[in-house]
Amino acid sequence: MPGTTGTPPASPDAERCPCGTGDAYGACCGRYHRGEADAPTAEALMRSRYTAFALRDVPYLLRTWHPDDRPDEAEVDLDPDQRWVRLDVVETTAGGPFDDRGTVTFEARWRSTAAHADGAPARGVLRERSRFVRAAPEAPGAPRRWLYLDGELA
Ligand SMILES: [Zn+2]
Repeated sequence: MPGTTGTPPASPDAERCPCGTGDAYGACCGRYHRGEADAPTAEALMRSRYTAFALRDVPYLLRTWHPDDRPDEAEVDLDPDQRWVRLDVVETTAGGPFDDRGTVTFEARWRSTAAHADGAPARGVLRERSRFVRAAPEAPGAPRRWLYLDGELA
C-alpha cells in the first residue's frame, strides 16, 4: 500500500479481519469500530484495537482508551511506514463478561516499508501485556464498557 494519508483505508466488511479470528471484518471488529456494539471481553477489545491500529482508526483508539491514560489525538503518532501483519493472543486473565479487570498478553508482528540501511525490510514483534478495566456507566443504566488502561512490554 504505497503512499499514506491520515485517513483510514477502506476495509470492506467481507475481507478477513486483520485481528486474525478468521471472521470477516464486518462481523468481527468492524461492528465495534462502527459503534454498533461494544466489545464484550477484554480480549475482544484488544483485538479490535489491534485492528484499529492496522487500519489507522485513531478515533476508535481514543474512544477505547481509559481517560486516565488517554493521549491527546495529536500524540497518537502512527508510523506511516509500519504495517501490522499478524496478531497472536498469548494469554488472557479475567476480562470476561462478569469481570471488572483483565489482562491480555499478545504478540503483534509488523513490517516496515522503510528499509534498513542495508536494504533489508525492517520487521519486528511487539509483545505486550495490556491491562483493561470496565468503566463505570456513562449514564444511569448504560452498559459498562471495556477500556484499555495501559500496557507493558512482556
Ligand atoms: Zn477482528
